[in-house]
Amino acid sequence: MALIHCPECGKEVSDLAAACIHCGYPLRAADLPVRYALILEDPGPDPGKTAALLHKHLTLTQEEAQALTEKTPAVVVQGLAFRQIWDLNDALRRVCTCKAVRDKSVWTPEAIQEAAAVDLTQERSRTWAGRIASPMTFWKTVGAILTALLIWSVASFLLSALFF
Ligand SMILES: [Zn+2]
Repeated sequence: MALIHCPECGKEVSDLAAACIHCGYPLRAADLPVRYALILEDPGPDPGKTAALLHKHLTLTQEEAQALTEKTPAVVVQGLAFRQIWDLNDALRRVCTCKAVRDKSVWTPEAIQEAAAVDLTQERSRTWAGRIASPMTFWKTVGAILTALLIWSVASFLLSALFF
């Protein structure tokens, strides 16, 4: 057993723990929310415009953004939630070639080259389906019970009107 620093609160916790004993942050990979990184592959026909967009959307200075467009492929940002990578990709895709990937803690030049692009549209329907599935099933069940009750009451009313 080794002690590691919790990525959320920074305190020491066992690397075997499922969650941080101090703040409850999930430490097992499966429990962690998926994070994305954006790799700039080609700054496009107007690198100045791409650098300006990077500067506008990320916490980068004009010079840092400029430097990134000069040594592609490069990781421009890490640790984004789905909504953030979606918006950023949307803002950048018209001016440059970039790919959204599953984030890694360390990005070597080889890893940058080999990283498989995530299909964000597909990813979105998958995450939405996952969230919507259970409440929909619940309301469908409630709807089915109410419909059955309605049919039963109408049927019994008609039968009683007919025979009595
Ligand atoms: Zn913690």
